[in-house]
Amino acid sequence: MNVTPAQLRLLAGRAEALAAEIRRLCDGVPAEAPEYARLAGARSAAGLLDRGGDDLRQAAGDLDRFLTVRECGLPWGVCPEHGRTLSSEAGAAMCRVCRKAWKHDRLNGPCAEPVAWKVTDEAGTVTLMCAGHVLGARAVLRNATFARLAAH
Ligand SMILES: [Zn+2]
Ligand SMILES: [Zn+2]
Repeated sequence: MNVTPAQLRLLAGRAEALAAEIRRLCDGVPAEAPEYARLAGARSAAGLLDRGGDDLRQAAGDLDRFLTVRECGLPWGVCPEHGRTLSSEAGAAMCRVCRKAWKHDRLNGPCAEPVAWKVTDEAGTVTLMCAGHVLGARAVLRNATFARLAAH
């Protein structure tokens, strides 16, 4: 990862400063001056730069969220506490151990729990997964190493 939210915010600040500079320049020309109409493009450029600044800030926020909360993303769902104990029926899901229920088919969709473990299998393949998925991995993977990730 070599783009940081701070870099994007810096660029946003430059876009906004440029927009302000264009406005200062154009505002010096009164509306009745003959060149006023010719500056329409410059005034609209200031607006576009404002929008660019907003988009850059939005991207910085998205990147912030991506960096702090990474979803597990394994293609099936689990109970966050008990692992592979879900039953799904008629678009809903329930844990067979704790009886916790979900109103959507949690079992047959990508896992949205935050990653909490780094699992390295015998071949050296690294998978980041949530606390629920790691339970199943512990049962299945032999000679894998399990490292808890620092909580945010
Ligand atoms: Zn459960
Ligand atoms: Zn998971």
